[in-house]
Formats: sequence, structure tokens, C-alpha cells
Amino acid sequence: MTVRKIIHVDMDAFYASVEQRDFPEYRGKPIVVGGSPEGRGGVVATASYEARKYGIRSAMPSKRAQQLCADLIFVRPRFAAYKEVSQQVRDIFRRYTDLIEPLSLDEAYLDVTEDKRHIGSAIAIAREIKQAIRDELQLTASAGVSVNKFVAKIASDMQKPDGLTFIAPEQVEGFMEKLPVEKFFGVGKVTAEKMKRMGLHTGADLKKLSENNLVQLFGKTGHFYYNIVRGIDRREVQPHRETKSLGAEDTFAYDLTTVEEMNTELDKIALTVAGRLEKYQLKGRTVTLKIKYSDFRQITRNQSFFHPIGDLATIAATAKQLLLKTDPVDVKIRLLGITLSNFGDEAPPPPSQQLSLF
Ligand SMILES: [Mg+2]
Repeated sequence: MTVRKIIHVDMDAFYASVEQRDFPEYRGKPIVVGGSPEGRGGVVATASYEARKYGIRSAMPSKRAQQLCADLIFVRPRFAAYKEVSQQVRDIFRRYTDLIEPLSLDEAYLDVTEDKRHIGSAIAIAREIKQAIRDELQLTASAGVSVNKFVAKIASDMQKPDGLTFIAPEQVEGFMEKLPVEKFFGVGKVTAEKMKRMGLHTGADLKKLSENNLVQLFGKTGHFYYNIVRGIDRREVQPHRETKSLGAEDTFAYDLTTVEEMNTELDKIALTVAGRLEKYQLKGRTVTLKIKYSDFRQITRNQSFFHPIGDLATIAATAKQLLLKTDPVDVKIRLLGITLSNFGDEAPPPPSQQLSLF
């Protein structure tokens, strides 16, 4: 098996850095891109490094940010501008590899196992990419280089801003053993607390548990933990992940005629969908219900959320609500399907919904 070479590139304080680049009056100043501190609901999308010195962070209420720094400058986001820069960054990536998986406007995985330009090493490629971003776009990025996605992503965060961190193949396992459990993908606050109560603080602690044990404790993610503490993450860099959707459907042996039956089937399908989302560590903003009637007529109905969702209860409840809106009385249903789409870790919400946040 060849050892893969994966780079995770993450732009530094992306939205804020673009604003500081385009508007010299913001340079060297604490600025926040996001919602206004007046009124309710405004949140920080990105804080400049000058603002971070005051403890201001992404997702913090704008009001709170203003309390922390009286001189803070609030800037409204210009998503069109960020998208354009994001495209320019991607054009730079493309010189080095075709295997690019964008995670959001300012983050991507690159598989550079095949050295398209004969640069010589993944570290050298990462260095060139950073230099090109600096020279051509007047922005900085941090990069993590390693043998898999998980370690590359953790590495890119270690020396921000303008960092370049390499975790060599032989260092990966030791690196994972020292890693605090909070840094593990998919470990939210609740799981982290659960782990700590059980005396699990680092990768080394998790490594003492058997795979069965981990699955009993943490569900399907247990498999992931078992492998990742051993430095194993086989997830590929997926160039088309952006547009992907994930779903499940079922064709029934008998037509469904009562809402009760339909709901029972939707529960089962939702369970499959939620399981797959968990496996791929995805959440989506749009739930789509597909219905095929016994006369082969087919319809779809969907609902979108502001925040990505992926939990069974929400998926099932949404699908049932969508079903009710189709007036499912005196109908015969042959097939039901549920699909989640509109993925992305922190992509900006669609325009119609941005208004409420900013
Ligand atoms: Mg970033």
C-alpha cells in the first residue's frame, strides 16, 4: 500500500483577512465580520487576529464581542467577494492536484500523492501553495501535511496563522496518542465530558479500549475512534463532495395506505439516513421527501434549515411533516425516500436566510 500524502489548507481568519486586504483602514485593527451588535441575534462569523486577542471568537454573539473590545469594528459580510477569492485559491490548488475536496470557502483537502508538477515532496508543495496565495492574493493560509485527512486537518491548526505543520508517517501514531479527546472529529462537548468522566483524556486512553467496547460506548463512531488512534483514516479526498447528497429509500411489497404505516416506514428510512450521515460525519441543511404512488406518479417535497441537522429525531419528524403536507389520505404509496443535502461545515447559508442573521 502506498502511503498517501494529504494536505489540509485553511485560510487564516478568512473573511476578516479579505476585508483587511481590500480596505486598508481595517488593517492592524480589531475587526469582526458578521452581524451587527445592535438588535438581537447577530453573531461573529470571523474575527481578525487583532480581535482574537480580546477573546473574540467565531459564533460569539456580536453584542458580547463588543463588550470585550470597545474599539471593535463590525463589518458586514461580502459573500460574493469571499466566493471569488475562494475560487482563486482553488485555481492555485489545481496547479498541483486534481484531487481537491473543499470543506467550505476557506478550507480544503488536497491529495498530492501523485506529484503532478514533480515538486518532490508534499511539504514543498504546501510551501509553494502558501507562497502563491501570499504573492497572488495577498492572504495567508495555514497548511497541515500528513498521511491522512484527520491528521492533516489537526496539523493545519497547530501553528496558525501562516503555519506549516508536517506530521511524518512514523510520527502519526504517537501524535494521536497525545491528542486530547476534544480534538477528535465528532467529539462534541457532551461526548468529551462523558469521556473524561470515564478517565479518557487522550488518544492513548482511547487506545486501551477494544473496538467492541468503543462501539458499545459511542455507537458507530467507535469504529472511527478505534482506527484513528492507530493513525488509520482511510477516507479519501473526494473532489465532488460539495454537491453530494445522502439518502435512502424503500419500495414496498404492498402499497401503503394509512398515515400510520407511512410514518412507521419513514422512521425506518430516517434511521438508515441518520446512520449514514454519522458514518460520513455529515450534516445537511435540506431534507427531501420522495414519494412514488402506485400509479407511478412521483413527487418530492423539501424543507431547509438554517443550521445543518443530522439527528434521527429531526430527520424523521421533518419527513413526517412533509408527508402530511401532501395530504396523504386515500392514496397508495409504493415508495418512500428521504435525502439530506446542502452539506458543508461552515458554508454561508443561502441568501434568503442570511438576512435574519446579518
Ligand atoms: Mg479558516
